[in-house]
Amino acid sequence: MNIYGLTYAQLENYLTSIGEKKSKAPFIFQSLYRTQVTSLMDVSEINQRLKTQLADTFTVTLPQLVDKTDGTDTVKFLFALQGEPETQQEYLIEAVLMKQNYGNSLCISTQAGCNMGCAFCQSGRFKKVHNLTTAELVSQIIAVQKLADCTIQNIVLMGIGEPFDNYDNVMQFLEIIMHSHGLALGKNHITVSTCGIVPGIEAYTAHPCHGLLAISLHAPDNDTRSRLMPINRRYPVEQLMKTARQYIYATGKKVMLEYVMLENINDTPEQAQLLADLIGTDKFHVNLIPYNATENSGFTQSSRERIMAFYDVLKKNNITVTMRREFGASVKAACGQLRADYENKTLLPKECNSL
Ligand code: SAH
Repeated sequence: MNIYGLTYAQLENYLTSIGEKKSKAPFIFQSLYRTQVTSLMDVSEINQRLKTQLADTFTVTLPQLVDKTDGTDTVKFLFALQGEPETQQEYLIEAVLMKQNYGNSLCISTQAGCNMGCAFCQSGRFKKVHNLTTAELVSQIIAVQKLADCTIQNIVLMGIGEPFDNYDNVMQFLEIIMHSHGLALGKNHITVSTCGIVPGIEAYTAHPCHGLLAISLHAPDNDTRSRLMPINRRYPVEQLMKTARQYIYATGKKVMLEYVMLENINDTPEQAQLLADLIGTDKFHVNLIPYNATENSGFTQSSRERIMAFYDVLKKNNITVTMRREFGASVKAACGQLRADYENKTLLPKECNSL
């Protein structure tokens, strides 16, 4: 088993089960997550016998780097994951490092493929073939830190896949990366983005290891949203917003509403007003994202004028709103689009961008 899949509590239990003291756990976690040892024989402050026993029981497996693309302030890493031993099937996934003035953020994928079927999203054209395991989620961070020789301050779960369709592994992943002897990432430095799986949001809110929450809303009315996002037929806008409010009231944190601007679909001033009414005075933050047009998607990016008009309506209603990039300027890649690579018949996220 890959040791990156173990929570601190599980590691302690393992130590007890082999007659060792729990007090060895901090050294093992620190060696894995701070020193970033590649062999369990290199864990500091434990005796040779325990090192050997650990090395016989666990592997220290990082995803294999297949390709790396350097941008001005983003670096994309293409990794091969081994998947489950039974199937021996390899999965290609990409993690994107974004160097921002407030620190390094890493955008990671939670699934290979996605079953949510959002009409505008390229990732969903391929059905889910694999839920990333806890170890695969965790080891991406270590691999990028080593390869880019950097420390990651923020994690965003906005790559391919729906995090709450892989809930247990994602929550175990959060528990590991938040642990004080490990990466010690704080709640405010982790954002999980969901298409709106209401029971997932409820469980996340109640979970001690929740981070921040982003919801891909993309439309304020059920008609439009159900056409864009099939999940809306199961959890309509009112129910979704009610659950989002429960997160806000329970945590005191704001919720980010992502809104991809699609020309003549969801970008009218009337829809902006509906969105403002939906938010009212609650702690939401709207992030307007220019649609990253993909081949044969049938959608067009809203014009700058339409985005500005939409933005103005929200502003007039005192809604906190940002735009993910400045138009016209040559700037870093700007929105959470992930694209499948048809030629390779594998899921290769092409872009994954920051909040
Ligand atoms: N399943 C999660 C996270 C993955 S998608 C979710 O739905 O939030 C990350 C974000 O990228 C989502 O807001 C998604 O709607 C958006 N996105 C997908 N395709 C896009 C495109 N072509 N242009 C811009 N944003 C896109």
